[in-house]
Amino acid sequence: MRTAMDFDFIVIGGGSGGLAAAKRAAEHGARVALLEPARLGGTCVNVGCVPKKLMWYAAGLAEARQLAPAYGFAPAPAGPPDWAALVARREAYLRRLNGIYADQLASRDVHCFATSGRLLGPGRVQAGEAELRAPHVLIATGTTPRRPVLAGRELGIDSDGFFALGQQPARVGIVGGGYIAVELAGLLAALGSDVTLILRSERVLRDFDPMLGEALMAHMRHAGISIHSKIRLAGAEEETDGSLSLHTADGIAHGPFDSLIWATGRAPAHAALAPEAAGVALDTAGFIAVDAHQRTNVPGLYAVGDVCGQPALTPVAIDRGRRLADDLFGAEPAAWPPLTLIPTVIFSHPPIGTVGLGEEQARERHGETVRVYHTRFNPLYYALTEHKVATQMKVIVAGAEERVVGLHLIGRDADEILQGFAVALQMGATKKDLDATLAIHPTSGEELVTLR
Ligand code: NDP
Repeated sequence: MRTAMDFDFIVIGGGSGGLAAAKRAAEHGARVALLEPARLGGTCVNVGCVPKKLMWYAAGLAEARQLAPAYGFAPAPAGPPDWAALVARREAYLRRLNGIYADQLASRDVHCFATSGRLLGPGRVQAGEAELRAPHVLIATGTTPRRPVLAGRELGIDSDGFFALGQQPARVGIVGGGYIAVELAGLLAALGSDVTLILRSERVLRDFDPMLGEALMAHMRHAGISIHSKIRLAGAEEETDGSLSLHTADGIAHGPFDSLIWATGRAPAHAALAPEAAGVALDTAGFIAVDAHQRTNVPGLYAVGDVCGQPALTPVAIDRGRRLADDLFGAEPAAWPPLTLIPTVIFSHPPIGTVGLGEEQARERHGETVRVYHTRFNPLYYALTEHKVATQMKVIVAGAEERVVGLHLIGRDADEILQGFAVALQMGATKKDLDATLAIHPTSGEELVTLR
């Protein structure tokens, strides 16, 4: 027999969006239930941003060791890291984070259920044997990796599988050209794997200003990554020696690989909820459809984060989750500024930072008034080294007042430079404002305030 339990707010999913909403609602005094069958923290903490960034740092150290002799250090012995030791330390750190999230929920009296939820009807959710009831229910179940429908797809792994690798693959094939593909390709190559990237299009990062993808492909090739563009895949096969290969529709084989990674996008993870049975409308791509206040078509039912097809970025999920909790349980209704200027960093090698419109989009929107400032230079870091990794920066302005509508960086430190400039864009900075800002010398960021 089901026990029924009453709450003010039921949050289904303990990732970035769900945790943010649950904690904020509890801080407003709401009685909150949170359902999460796996480790707290969701994709970002367990199989995404955090472990990826740690691997990216490891890759950066490997690169620095290569360059150190140019600064007078004795050459370090070549070779990949102790993968098992790296992974063990990484996972131990993640477990600590899982524990911190559990403590944060406990200290706010959030009632946690280690199970997935199923929508039973308005304000009713099944959590194992219990039936939970609340006037407000939030879906924050995220996404899972999606593989192309091809023969042999099960032979490969996805980004979840990458984080489960017990040893470093010597030869890796990666299919895809988005965030995950270029990030994994870059860090694996820097750590010493032989990497092949298979693209169905002409270039990586097609959704961004073309300068970024084009420059990144040149850097990747220089770093020894083989890139094959415009490939029509037929499937993957396992060879008699256990290695894997990819086969194209026109009979060409790529490989052999020890590991094959599908990095071909992500699909919403809401099957366990049975949203259709509960009358929840989905968008054409199968994500939960929401309005500008994160409301679904069912009264009292909301969705935040990747599951609702908004830009799949942790800060977006957290922002919308907190606003929703403020809106529902705070003293005043929340403001809902549109998600227009979203700064984002791709932890490729070198990293990319980008915010606002690409050149093409800017011209579509602002026509002839668009002006583009561009620079390419070798950062001082590479002054003593033979191997140089050039930085490129593009500032796109529009209108008579030359308002900055797009800013795109690729190169060392782009990841850390972007945040402050995103504030400037958010405040409506013009080219004059950039010019009026004193430079910090010597840095790469100063180039953005000295562009001519
Ligand atoms: P993306 O949407 O970024 O990229 C998917 C890639 O897969 C595209 O290059 C696409 O090619 C390719 N693709 C799709 N289907 C096929 C197919 N059948 N055959 C071959 N290639 C295919 O997805 P990701 O999985 O990389 O990342 C998911 C999301 O997670 C990102 O959009 C981002 O929002 C988030 N993320 C953010 C990170 C960060 O903030 N640093 C890091 C990692 C993920 P095509 O270009 O031709 O369409």
